[in-house]
Amino acid sequence: MLGQTLSAQQDRVALDEISPEGLAEQGYRAIILDVDNTVSCLKKDHPTDEAVRLVGKAKESGLKVVLLSNVVFTARSERVQRIAIHLEVDHVCAFWPRVKPHHEPFLQALDLAGVDAAEAVMIGDQLIADVFGATRLGIDTILVEPIGEWHPVAWIIAALERCCCRTLGRS
Ligand SMILES: [Mg+2]
Repeated sequence: MLGQTLSAQQDRVALDEISPEGLAEQGYRAIILDVDNTVSCLKKDHPTDEAVRLVGKAKESGLKVVLLSNVVFTARSERVQRIAIHLEVDHVCAFWPRVKPHHEPFLQALDLAGVDAAEAVMIGDQLIADVFGATRLGIDTILVEPIGEWHPVAWIIAALERCCCRTLGRS
């Protein structure tokens, strides 16, 4: 069971390899999109070109897009807001202690998108925060290769993820 909640539908892909048109054809109606190391490099307050292309194609395909980010501190929420404004999408900032993988921010994102869990796909770079958090609510997931440098906390989380993967026999 734990192994299933740590398995993404697509694993370690680049953002450019994701087809929003294909997701829409599969019946998805919304994308929930992680921010740090997925659509923006750490400390940058703008999305990457790849993220702009993905969100543009998603909108053309009729998909709602909601950014979902663990921000912990209020000051960091302004950065997420700037990225959301740049992409012209809604966003959810998750504050401690209700941060991903806690269910509350995912439910807020689904509510903003106006879809059920089965109609959404979560795209993010972290196995526990993004994949585990979404999958246990019934949201399908795409795990992407992280971009840019990591926050020190992300290194600790990545080490925990590697331990989980070894224990569960994932590569
Ligand atoms: Mg991330």
